[in-house]
Amino acid sequence: MNKSLRKAVIAGNWKMNKGRAEAKALIESLVPLVKDAGCDVLVCVPYTDLETALAAAAGTNIRVAAQNCHWAASGAFTGEISAAMLAELGVGAVIIGHSERRQYFGETDRTVNARVRAALDAGLQVILCVGELLGEREQNITGEDCSMQTKIALAGVSAGELERVIIAYEPVWAIGTGKTATADQADEVCGLIRGVIAGLYGKDAADALTIQYGGSMNAGNAEELLGKEHVDGGLIGGASLTAPDFAAIVAAAGK
Ligand code: PEP
Repeated sequence: MNKSLRKAVIAGNWKMNKGRAEAKALIESLVPLVKDAGCDVLVCVPYTDLETALAAAAGTNIRVAAQNCHWAASGAFTGEISAAMLAELGVGAVIIGHSERRQYFGETDRTVNARVRAALDAGLQVILCVGELLGEREQNITGEDCSMQTKIALAGVSAGELERVIIAYEPVWAIGTGKTATADQADEVCGLIRGVIAGLYGKDAADALTIQYGGSMNAGNAEELLGKEHVDGGLIGGASLTAPDFAAIVAAAGK
């Protein structure tokens, strides 16, 4: 397993924060701070900010992503947005299966798989989130849980399509709580997920796959987490909402 084969990816998940004016201002403050980044930089913004963010990031190294998409191309799904609609806007990537979608909006491993398939079919890159609940960690079934979530989410995904997938390991107990997994805990589960990918797609695909850690990553803990063999980047919630904090994490990833 060779970390140097993989480019780090730092993605900010703004969740349901920032109106259009704030989105423009945040990206404009980020541009000079991350212009020499040694990693890929993404901002995953609310649907209503997508066009503003795409315009503000045009010609820079910041890429714009969405936070979800529906599995159908079109139809009677009030309130939903299709992957093709995102692609038409010029959006290049989308988060699928975030724990807040699973926890508050009834997302299941099967609907996550359907959304992953739809996003890949529309030509998007996918940030696929998997992670255990606190109870599952306490029961020592983190490995089984993350392995199962990964396998179901990737059902029907070819080796070629996997090149457009990033996996974000996000222990649910660490998201938005200020509780970070230790660097060793993060590395252990990211390594386990890489092993699952090796079993499904072979060692070369596993070596090439970017696996992020997400869960209260911040400027203070990023360098240690990102230094681990299997941690190739971060999915950042709270600390992505201010430019200096997010830029400090981007800088840590380039070290
Ligand atoms: C997230 O939203 O994916 C996340 C990791 O949030 P936070 O960094 O706030 O824990």
